[in-house]
Amino acid sequence: MAFTLPALPYAHEALEPYIDSMTMQIHHGKHHQAYVDNLNKAIAGTANENKSLEELVKHAGSISPAVRNNGGGHWNHSFFWEILAPKAGGAPSGSVADAINAAFGSFDTLKEKLNAAGVGRFGSGWAWLIVKDGKLEVSSTPNQDNPLMDIAEVKGSPILGVDVWEHAYYLKYQNRRADYLGAFWNLVNWKKVAEHFANATK
Ligand code: MN
Repeated sequence: MAFTLPALPYAHEALEPYIDSMTMQIHHGKHHQAYVDNLNKAIAGTANENKSLEELVKHAGSISPAVRNNGGGHWNHSFFWEILAPKAGGAPSGSVADAINAAFGSFDTLKEKLNAAGVGRFGSGWAWLIVKDGKLEVSSTPNQDNPLMDIAEVKGSPILGVDVWEHAYYLKYQNRRADYLGAFWNLVNWKKVAEHFANATK
């Protein structure tokens, strides 16, 4: 069964002014679509053809680079679109906020750490907030790897993530990755983050 591109849960222009419409059109319609297409090509006629995306990602260390990169790309972007929302952002509340305070001391410290992980990722990759052994941690992965992969340096369940590939921000922010990361916090869909947190800690 072939993988398909999930529809964006909002309009391309809905994340303005923090992420521009053109970036969303290209990022979702071209980049994410290409990961889906290339993943389907890479698994066609192989033993991986009928595996779930989660199954492929979990065994990234023993699948081909094409399946690892494009499967990771498909998983990461499907996750990312739902972490973003229009009229979102602000401070978290409830048990996620409690866990953030317990792990980092404050929400501001989490922001600093995640922004630093994103800015410090040389080349392309992702910064993550993960649940690891029941606790929150910030991590970062190169390329289209993610913390669910067996080959990840820091393994855990992502509850929030941000794409720091240039294609995610270059049209609006050019080389200013830190400004893009600063703007990202205005779009965080804390309801979705809370769902991921509940699943990762139950
Ligand atoms: Mn991307």
